[in-house]
Amino acid sequence: MLKKATAAILLLAITISQASVVVFLYHRFDDERYPSTNTWTHELETHIRLVKELGFEIWTLRDLEDYAYGRRQLKSKAVVFTVDDGYRSVYQYAYPVFKKQGVPFAVFLQVGAVGYPDYLTWEMIKEMIKDGVEFANHSFSHEDFPKLLTKMNLSDVIDQFRNDARKANQLFYEKTGYTMRYYAYPYGHYLQEFFEVLKQEGFKLAFTQNPGPYTSEYGFYEIPREPLLEDWATEEHVRYILSRKPLVAIFEKFNVEDDILELGTKILEPKHVKTATLYVSEKGVVQASLKDAVLYSGPIRLTKMYNRMFISARDGKNQEYIKYWLIYNVQGK
Ligand SMILES: [Zn+2]
Repeated sequence: MLKKATAAILLLAITISQASVVVFLYHRFDDERYPSTNTWTHELETHIRLVKELGFEIWTLRDLEDYAYGRRQLKSKAVVFTVDDGYRSVYQYAYPVFKKQGVPFAVFLQVGAVGYPDYLTWEMIKEMIKDGVEFANHSFSHEDFPKLLTKMNLSDVIDQFRNDARKANQLFYEKTGYTMRYYAYPYGHYLQEFFEVLKQEGFKLAFTQNPGPYTSEYGFYEIPREPLLEDWATEEHVRYILSRKPLVAIFEKFNVEDDILELGTKILEPKHVKTATLYVSEKGVVQASLKDAVLYSGPIRLTKMYNRMFISARDGKNQEYIKYWLIYNVQGK
């Protein structure tokens, strides 16, 4: 009896660890003025066709919340469509496509910009809410909050972050009667200290711009998203990102001090790591040694304030597992 129960638990653990959610991130649509944040609606149509063809579930943010908090099971893989900033082209070009295809999506709104030329109006937002579109908090001011540490202390930065998120939620509630439950960090930049603030303010999930798939083992306030624009909007790239699995790791050592990064990362998933590559955006591939599933690297000299780091590992079947982290170096440029 005991043996049976153990086997069942093991099986469940395997099912959970193989599950993953890929959150797509868009900004502008059919807007040739800003190529670096633009996606063409014909590309969006391809993405929708592809996830349907490949048998992915298409989730809302509420579905993702339920999964993250253990109230919903994921059979294999799901995707979520999100759009940042609240540009008017979402309403003009993407909304009709999503609607025609019966695909739910969410807009992370820079609330302070609503009504400005190029941005959504409250009328458009209310119409979309009636249609089931989810809206979430992308700050009031779109401030680069961690960067404020160069001119103020941590508790002031935290206060400013908190007040900004509150202000956005208050105005949104006044205008629509809805409370936003999710947050996306402006520029995808954040500090670990923000997680507790968001929790205290009633936010259930928060989203970064670190690519890679999500598993509930990552927690609630550092959910990766895949930007699908320019070269990353191609069918080939989307097929590739949908094939990756979430790498799960814990840091035995993670130090950024005096521009020097040092780390030791224990890889928990995949269980049997065959190869692992470490990449830091301002450096490219970085020398690292793998011993007993721990990847060691450093000292690595950083010059930039923000770096994205990823570990890509492969198991014996050559399946790729990936996880990105944002590295913040307050002394960097
Ligand atoms: Zn933004």
